[in-house]
Amino acid sequence: MAVALLKPKDRIDTFIPVSEPWLSEAELSNVNAAVRSGWISSAGEFIDRFERDWAAYCGRAHGVAVSNGTTALQLAVRALDLQPGDEVIMPSFTIISCALALVEVGVVPVPIDCDALTWTMDIAQIEAAITPRTRAIMAVHIYGHPVDMDGVMALARKHNLRVIEDAAEAHGAECLVDRDKGAGRWQRCGSFGDITCFSFYANKIVTTGEGGMVLADDPVLAERVRQLRNLCFGKAQRFRHEELGFNYRITNVQAAIGVAQVARIGELVQRKRSIARRYLTRLSSCAGLQLPVEESWARNVYWMFALVLRDAVPFDAAELTRRLRERNIETRPFFVGMHEQPALHKRGVCQGKALPVTERIAARGLYLPSGMTLHDDEVDRVCDAVIETLR
Ligand SMILES: *Cc1c(COP(=O)(O)O)cnc(C)c1O
Repeated sequence: MAVALLKPKDRIDTFIPVSEPWLSEAELSNVNAAVRSGWISSAGEFIDRFERDWAAYCGRAHGVAVSNGTTALQLAVRALDLQPGDEVIMPSFTIISCALALVEVGVVPVPIDCDALTWTMDIAQIEAAITPRTRAIMAVHIYGHPVDMDGVMALARKHNLRVIEDAAEAHGAECLVDRDKGAGRWQRCGSFGDITCFSFYANKIVTTGEGGMVLADDPVLAERVRQLRNLCFGKAQRFRHEELGFNYRITNVQAAIGVAQVARIGELVQRKRSIARRYLTRLSSCAGLQLPVEESWARNVYWMFALVLRDAVPFDAAELTRRLRERNIETRPFFVGMHEQPALHKRGVCQGKALPVTERIAARGLYLPSGMTLHDDEVDRVCDAVIETLR
């Protein structure tokens, strides 16, 4: 690998963590420069560069860096001016942040089930969920596999809906669009719809430790996010506010890490794909496992190497987690669907509907160690353990 690990790995760790960031001398050198400059708060050249570089990589006109992926979603929802009672169609199978950003402003999340193979929202279910109150679709790429954005964008155009894209798990992923016009063309995740949200949490492909970004092409929308991020300070008189905003700022020190990470996105994605390839080769003969797919219209970045236990396996994912933990291998369970969240039911949303695919994979899915610092022999050790456990 071109970039040396800061953390020496001269031995195979006995404990294999589910994820670990891959940091290099470049990140360290940027942090050094940020600290030396004295710009350690929420202004500074690294923030501007981070926003420019990431927006450019994703093919978007504007980037606004924020404190994390959850606040990115909150700002996106606010910036789109969704009103209490408006409905947003979203996948049930996602992280709570997606629903939280809607519910806190009185917008009603309408969860739909996911596709049994890609685990992303089943776009065939979108139209049936549309009502006169529907205003937007929230599309969330899952574990590195994109949602079929060609289909989502066509539905959004047809029904005049806004699109919020959550690409936190799909840095660098691509989707084949305009497929009805010949061969189509590849378009990067992060560039779809009205507004996109990213997280740069430590387990995401590009990381700043904690951090996030909102991308948009519309300069008015981007400026609105920028204002909301920074307390909506007044333009003429700083401390006279026309609106209430938030402090969801990122620091120049975090952005310094981000700038170095974005410059390395090629090798970060390559490493994820190569870990996945090794897992796929070793585990594909294991009859009890449903493994990640890559649809012909998708380029999967395999953010996490996930699997679902088939019905023939006589135990669930929690049991597999226990058995792997005994062998010093860490895993993470799948999401619990939004329609099964007590916290949302208490707010009177996401109730009363069975979503069978989400329910099944929530009980039978987990992801294996997928950190970018994983050695090939560690991947092999995980595969051996999984195969033995299922025998
Ligand atoms: C990680 C993640 C988030 C939340 O990001 P944080 O930075 O942890 O707040 C939002 N959406 C998806 C799909 C994620 O995977």
